[in-house]
Amino acid sequence: MKKSQASRPPARLLLGPGPSNVHPRVLEAMAQPLLGHLDPAFLALMDETQQRLRRLFGAENHALTLPLSATGSAGMEACFANLLLPGDAAVVGVAGVFGERMCEVARRCGADVTRVDAEWGDALSAAAMGSAIARVQPRLVALVHAETSTGVLQPVEEIAATANAAGAFTVLDCVTSLGGMPLRLDAWGIDAAYSATQKCLSCPPGLSPLSFSPRAMAFVRERRRPVQSWYLDVSLLAGYYGGEARRYHHTAPVSAIYALAEGLRIVEEEGIEARAARHRQAADALLESLAPLGFEPLVSEVALRLPPLTTLRLPRLISGANNEAQLRARLLHEHGIEVGGGLGALEGKVWRIGLMGENARLEAVERLEAALHTLLTS
Ligand SMILES: *Cc1c(COP(=O)(O)O)cnc(C)c1O
Repeated sequence: MKKSQASRPPARLLLGPGPSNVHPRVLEAMAQPLLGHLDPAFLALMDETQQRLRRLFGAENHALTLPLSATGSAGMEACFANLLLPGDAAVVGVAGVFGERMCEVARRCGADVTRVDAEWGDALSAAAMGSAIARVQPRLVALVHAETSTGVLQPVEEIAATANAAGAFTVLDCVTSLGGMPLRLDAWGIDAAYSATQKCLSCPPGLSPLSFSPRAMAFVRERRRPVQSWYLDVSLLAGYYGGEARRYHHTAPVSAIYALAEGLRIVEEEGIEARAARHRQAADALLESLAPLGFEPLVSEVALRLPPLTTLRLPRLISGANNEAQLRARLLHEHGIEVGGGLGALEGKVWRIGLMGENARLEAVERLEAALHTLLTS
């Protein structure tokens, strides 16, 4: 029988905001025969995976670290659903799409949300967050470490210190930072954090690494009103992922765990510091190579630029019949390269170029530069 078209995807270089390309070793791991999710051989792999996640998160002292069976947004939902009770005050830093999404999720948990906004392309003001925290005395303070919609790194340590001093839980979105830069959840005083596998870990989408501090777990175990979501209740997930009994909660996605385990081995073989340096070098090379075509960084302050995701203002060359959406389509169809468009207020004004995980390499930058050169100057 002939293979169907759908089972043979075209070759793509994925330089958008995620997913990124997957290492061949990870693809091979996923093709291994299944084990039962309670098989001792699988449980050993689960132990290894959780241990590697703890190290990568810098969360050795956290009470529970696990790969949640869903994408990054479910990790976000898990943090808010477990740590908020209806009527609780929450302070959320909003500097892009994912801060907005946090507000919506917190509201749906019944929280009274105070948002602290920053211009898109800017960092949150730690002082503004501090005065909101002092004013509303929230149960929870949330922010995004690496805002993928704008390409800005946010001031986590300062804000977390203020939240801790006020006795609030701190929730951190690490979706685009885990695997691309060192994280220190314990040292920063983060109570709940989540990530996703398809960005700097270079695994397929589908899992959300999640980590809860002892204080956060104690709160969930002691809350009288059960967590509204059965699936995301970390006190129930602990029955399987907590390590001791490994009781059935839901069927762990076995092949996806094979992939993540291999992806995390690759990260540790390289070392997170070397990996972070590679992301910075690739992002620097990208800015340098596209500058002659007229692309300029949206984020002016160098220290705020997010190495895995660079937001570029579009040159005047890209307009009218040669508009940005058409140009992205041509990049995809004629050169096999995917890049991201702008979101929200930045739609049509910027491109978002991800150099994440396996793709944070000069070869990727060179391929993009050559393709754009062909499209824009011939
Ligand atoms: C991609 C992303 C998410 C959402 O993750 P999904 O896997 O798409 O659900 C959340 N936060 C940030 C910062 C992201 O980049």
